[in-house]
Amino acid sequence: PRLANQIAAGEVVERPSSVTKELIENAIDAGSQRIEVEIEQGGARLIKVRDDGIGIGEQDLPLALARHATSKINSLEDLEGVSSLGFRGEALASISSVSRLELVSNADEDPRQGWRVVAEGRGMEAKVTPAPHPRGTSVSVRDLFFNTPARRKFLRTEKTEFAHVEEAFRRQALSRYDIAWVLRHNQKVVHQLPPGNTPTARERRIASLLGKNFIEHARYIEREAGGLRLSGWVGLPTHSRSQADQQYFFVNGRVVRDRLVAHAVRQAYRDVLYNGRHPVFVLYLELDPDVVDVNVHPTKHEVRFRDGRMVHDFLYSSLHHCLAASKP
Ligand code: ADP
Ligand code: MG
Repeated sequence: PRLANQIAAGEVVERPSSVTKELIENAIDAGSQRIEVEIEQGGARLIKVRDDGIGIGEQDLPLALARHATSKINSLEDLEGVSSLGFRGEALASISSVSRLELVSNADEDPRQGWRVVAEGRGMEAKVTPAPHPRGTSVSVRDLFFNTPARRKFLRTEKTEFAHVEEAFRRQALSRYDIAWVLRHNQKVVHQLPPGNTPTARERRIASLLGKNFIEHARYIEREAGGLRLSGWVGLPTHSRSQADQQYFFVNGRVVRDRLVAHAVRQAYRDVLYNGRHPVFVLYLELDPDVVDVNVHPTKHEVRFRDGRMVHDFLYSSLHHCLAASKP
């Protein structure tokens, strides 16, 4: 299972930011109201995510790290032939196969309760020991790739790795305004985001994550038609420092990078004006989950709409309308 875990890790654990993303997703799934992310040395030394969610009970703790070994893969060579593995229930097992992972959790209201389990590269330590923890879970991932030196070598500078971690954090924080978030790097607070779903609270969060400049030169959009609902902020041409990477599109709360979406947005900007500027936006599309598949690939953020044409036209016309109305 160790080899299978390391192989899966190659797909799901690319760098500190991918670990961060998986841990945050678990914290969100646990119904947390507050999520704290602590990073040291760009994540190469430590990635820690602490939440106040439902927690994991003593019996379930070893299971959280276990994984069904894949019988199809017996050697590293086989890996080349496998293009799409399923990753369900594999994130923690994969991460622990290439790091020193500590899981401390408490599913009880009593903060004196709690259990700890440690897994380190070669396998899990069977012992589950008592460790007090407020209700919720802390996962610490230390020394990522310590036992796979070839992969460790691919880590970039501390600054670059942290930039990716911050980006992963940003996407999640932009998807859940009801959760309080903290991001620290080398003991310094980088983002501290109180919860709040009012327009003002949302704008404050966006300003804090993307800069005041973004929100000051953005227009709020809200449109609904044919079972589709679009809301969010689109940057206007007065936005002087538009950055190519400030493009966030969420479908039913999940960040996606999708060609159809990108095309509709680009087209709307181009048709209104915007002499070659990068469109910048934070947009939320909501639609019936039955007419969209957001799980095409667990890491690639792809979506598949049942009626792509309709979604494209709706996005295009909504944005075109909004941008044309804002034309100076
Ligand atoms: P998956 O999320 O696909 O189930 P993971 O390997 O990410 O697989 O997690 C394995 C299991 O461990 C989860 O299904 C969940 O039961 C438990 N778990 C992991 N992280 C947390 C957390 N922060 N809070 C509560 N349970 C968790
Ligand atoms: Mg998970």
